[in-house]
Amino acid sequence: VKNCLGRIETTEPQVKALITVLGEDALKQAEAMDADGPDASRPLWGVPIVLKDLLAAKGTKTTCASKILENFVPFYDATAVVKLKEAGAIIIGKANMDEFAMGSTTENSAFMTTRNPWDNERVPGGSSGGSGATVAAGQCFGALGTDTGGSIRTPASFCGIVGLKPTYGRISRFGLIAYGSSLDQIGPMARSVEDAARMLQVMAGYDPKDSTSVDVDVPDYLAALGRENLDGVKIGLPKEYWGEGLDEEVEVALKAAIAKAEQLGATMVPLSLSLTDYAIATYYIIAMAEASSNLSRFDGVRFGHRNKDAEELIDMYTSSRTEGFGDEVQRRIIMGTYVLSSGYYDAYYNKAAKVRRLLREDFEKAFEQCDLIAGPVLPTVAPKVEDEMTPLQMYLIDIFTVSANLAGIPGMSLPVGLGKDSGMPVGLQLMGPAFSEADMLSVAECLE
Ligand code: GLN
Repeated sequence: VKNCLGRIETTEPQVKALITVLGEDALKQAEAMDADGPDASRPLWGVPIVLKDLLAAKGTKTTCASKILENFVPFYDATAVVKLKEAGAIIIGKANMDEFAMGSTTENSAFMTTRNPWDNERVPGGSSGGSGATVAAGQCFGALGTDTGGSIRTPASFCGIVGLKPTYGRISRFGLIAYGSSLDQIGPMARSVEDAARMLQVMAGYDPKDSTSVDVDVPDYLAALGRENLDGVKIGLPKEYWGEGLDEEVEVALKAAIAKAEQLGATMVPLSLSLTDYAIATYYIIAMAEASSNLSRFDGVRFGHRNKDAEELIDMYTSSRTEGFGDEVQRRIIMGTYVLSSGYYDAYYNKAAKVRRLLREDFEKAFEQCDLIAGPVLPTVAPKVEDEMTPLQMYLIDIFTVSANLAGIPGMSLPVGLGKDSGMPVGLQLMGPAFSEADMLSVAECLE
């Protein structure tokens, strides 16, 4: 803990990964644990962990990087946080993010822009960019992110770390402040596949407090690791993921990883995910619709920012929300409300829900031919902060990540090398059938 706090002190002025540092609390806890001596029954005993700032942590500011929750202190822990603590983890900070997890670069935070530790002129990815940067900067040994359409995998790829979005329902979402409830999933971001497996092991499982958490056995993820080769493993390569639009340096690094997998005995299966072109439109309709509904609870009444000068109720709602939400969040509330409104519901939301089903079936068919699918996480390495993307450009870079959320399947980013021109990390994405995390982690570890 001392070591990590030292790293935070030296790197944080450049990286700006953390909204809250729990220095004294964390030290006190570590000292008390030291006094009691190591406890082998607690698999994360004494391990410093950072939480994305939309996970409720009792008594600790939980802001969603939004002015509307700037001073919000929950009185309970998210289930994933309870489980980490029970396993002996020490929470040392809360990480910056795009406001309410809406974005791919962490530039949409109301408080600050996190920088990529590899090159401070570049973004760390988002929306779990603080979580990616804090791990990559060595400020902690693992962090929690959440992934609605790529927010764990994108920063993991840009920051050169391992990030896993588990199957929808694998980890309880209780205490995760919702963005798109049918898409959101908590997952580990870590320095190695083994560390990610260790964190997943602790957090996975059914929780009566989240009716969408799934009651299926949690396998022994660590026991699955340690395979010597990839004999018999069939890896699908969707042509829509490997075509034009990929930056050359990304393609080169990814192809080297595929060649390595082949050398290790894996068979490559060319296939097609023919609905990939529709994924972005489908995702943004569903995500914004759900966001507009979820964010209606921030009305200045029960918690969060309130405009105290407003004279009557509607004015109080409107002005509190106008002051509290940033531009991107407001844009999405407006679009989400639009696609849900009567007269447009069938044209947008209902149609998106149907395409979502077809996309899911596309994956089911693909997994009849292969064990895992491999592709890029993103078409490029981390862009520069000064490149300022438009909202539409920002939505489009999610092309390879959103499908896993729409289909509910697990996806991960594995660092496989550096781009030959930029020197920035490149992540390989692996996706698998629902609840195939053990397989996915074991293949990833073999390629690591
Ligand atoms: N970039 C996507 C969005 O803005 C994904 C975000 C996420 O996974 N939370 O919606």
